[in-house]
This record gives sequence, C-alpha cells and structure tokens, in this order.
Amino acid sequence: MITFNVPPYVDKAKDYIQECVANQKICGDGVYTGKCNEWIEQKTGTAKCLLTTSCTHATELAALLSDIRPGDEVIMPSYTFVSTANAFVLRGAVPVFVDIRPDTMNIDEKLIENAVTERTRAIAPVHYAGVACEMDTIMAIAEKYHLAVIEDAAQGIMSTYKGRALGTIGNFGCFSFHETKNYSMGEGGALLIRDKKDVEEAEIIREKGTNRSKYYRGQIDKYTWMNHGSSYLPSDMNAAYLYAQLEIAEEMNEARLAVWRQYYGNLKPLADAGRIELPVVPEGCVHNGHMFYIKAQDIQERTELIDYLKENGIHSVFHYIPLHSAPAGEKFGRFHGEDRYTTRESERLTRLPMFYGLKPEQVDYICDRVKAFYGKRD
Ligand SMILES: *Cc1c(COP(=O)(O)O)cnc(C)c1O
Repeated sequence: MITFNVPPYVDKAKDYIQECVANQKICGDGVYTGKCNEWIEQKTGTAKCLLTTSCTHATELAALLSDIRPGDEVIMPSYTFVSTANAFVLRGAVPVFVDIRPDTMNIDEKLIENAVTERTRAIAPVHYAGVACEMDTIMAIAEKYHLAVIEDAAQGIMSTYKGRALGTIGNFGCFSFHETKNYSMGEGGALLIRDKKDVEEAEIIREKGTNRSKYYRGQIDKYTWMNHGSSYLPSDMNAAYLYAQLEIAEEMNEARLAVWRQYYGNLKPLADAGRIELPVVPEGCVHNGHMFYIKAQDIQERTELIDYLKENGIHSVFHYIPLHSAPAGEKFGRFHGEDRYTTRESERLTRLPMFYGLKPEQVDYICDRVKAFYGKRD
C-alpha cells in the first residue's frame, strides 16, 4: 500500500531530543524552540516568530491580538480547514464565506470588497496547497477599510508571493507543523508577527497572560499576570524534532517539488486530453510542493477513481466539506454571494500521495494507475 502521508522525520531529531532530556530542559521556550524561531525569522524575514502548539492555536492568538469581538465579521473562504473559522468563532465573530477561484482553489480576491460591511474587522486568506492568494489585492482592500489580515499559511512554509514569504505579508501569519505538513513536530505551529509593536502582547498572551518571556530575558525581576492569555508554547522536545528538519529544509523542499513535477509531467497528457485538471500556479507564486491534486469531472467520477486507486494499493484522499454547508458553518457563519465554485470544485478534487521520501517509481506507478483508470473508461 502506498500511504497518502508519511510524517517527515530526520534522524538527527533523536540526538536533539536526547539532548533536551539530558539537559533536563523539556518545557517550552528552550534551546530548540529558540533555534526554530530564529530559523523561521531568518528564512522568511518576519519581525518575530513564536512557535506554538498548533496552527489552530497560532490563529487563535492572532484573533486575540487583532482584538476580534462578538459580532465582528471575518472574511474567509469556505473551502478550508475548520481552524480558520474556529479561531474567530471562539471570539464570538461571524465567518463570512466568499467563493474561491477554480484555478488555485484560493479565495477569489475580486469578491472580497463586496463582502465588506461596517462590522468587518479582518480578512483570513488561506494559501491552499502552498500556492499564494492574490495578496496585493487583499492588502489593498485591508488598507482601504482598516482591516487586519491573518494569513492561514498552514500549508505555505517555504512558498513565496512576488518574492515575499507567505505568512509575512498580513499582520499575522500562521504555520502548521502537524504531521501531515511539509515539516512537522507532531502537533505544532508558529505565529509570524509582521510588526514589532505586536510582539510584546503576543508573548504575554502565549505565556498564560504573563510577562514571563521578559523575565527570562532578565528584563524584569518578577513576572506577573498582565492580560488575558493561554498556554500556546510547545515542549522543547517537539521543537527539537522539528529543528532537525529545518536544518535541511531546502533539500526536503526540493524533494517534494521533484515529486510534484514528476506527477505534473506524467499526468499532463491526460489533462491535455481534457480528462482531468491539474493544479495551477499563477505568475509570481513559488510553491512548496505541499500537495499534488487532480480534478475529476464530478463527484461520482472522483469516488470511482479513489476506489480504483485503493484497489490498486494507493491511498488517495479528498478533503474540506465546504464550511458553509457543515452544521457549525450554518450556525456560526454565512456565505456572501453565490457559491459558483466552492462546492463544485471541492467535489472534484483528489489528493495523491505526497510526502518526503516518496520514490520516483512509486510516483510512476500511481500515475500509471490513474491513466489506467481513465483508459478503462474510454
Ligand atoms: C493543517 C491546517 C490547519 C491546522 O493546523 P494544526 O497545526 O493542525 O492546527 C489550519 N488550516 C489549514 C489550511 C491547514 O491545512
């Protein structure tokens, strides 16, 4: 069986975790958390990176930092993971869903301005498959209406938009290091903070509402309760597991992109023949090979394809029931405008196996089976 995902692992992780244990420093904000934060700051150019327990928690932190309040509206796509919406729903805000573009599956930037009301406080673009949303347009709307921008860059580490790292363009950016992502610490994430002015409050909210970070740096003698907050810092052992991957991040990224290009090249003839559709990467976007998906004609063909691949030992998956059609989405949010593409395109999409270590001969085998499926249907 070729599984859909294998969690990323680099052997050095063992040494680094052992070091944490030997030094009796396993709680948050130890040596490896610091190394990961610094690495991400260097790589992306963000003013400040704070490792968190998940991307979900990074987004919750961003919602708190953006002072999102009951009744506020946050514009986002419906085609996304629940955490994009939940972070704001927890603050009593209303997710306002806008349709996606069929080419990238990202929020359609042309539809955002029309969804702005006097209650709108933020936009939460999601960079699907590590391919950037049209950020220039989004940032211009945010500026015009004084909205915060919180990038769900869960899938976007190592990707860029016009040369800028995803997660660094809006006020806040959120990465995921879940085991299904390009780099992992089991469960984990990071909050990227664009503006220095937001750093101190972020450190306080992340550390149970205390100024303990300042205390550790020796800037104050005692730490105390300063604000509302929670515990969003991961164990240093998890950071140690992640850091081993960040050290060879470029190599891992190249390996993923090679798999992606192999899929693309192998399946292009099927796409040219009009049988399937392949991912689109717009001008100015550099992606990270997070995902390789194909689109079937409709949900029925997709179901048959997934079943056929399964019979042939290949685990492929679909995801994201659009949030506006889920029970919680109906209760907490609303869809603005027409759902032209969100439901239709989500029903066509299948993700093929993609992970660090997937072998070229496995990719060839998967592509051959996809071609055989379509050959069978001629
Ligand atoms: C994975 C993912 C998340 C959640 O990440 P966690 O680290 O598991 O909280 C949020 N949004 C998107 C788009 C994701 O792909």
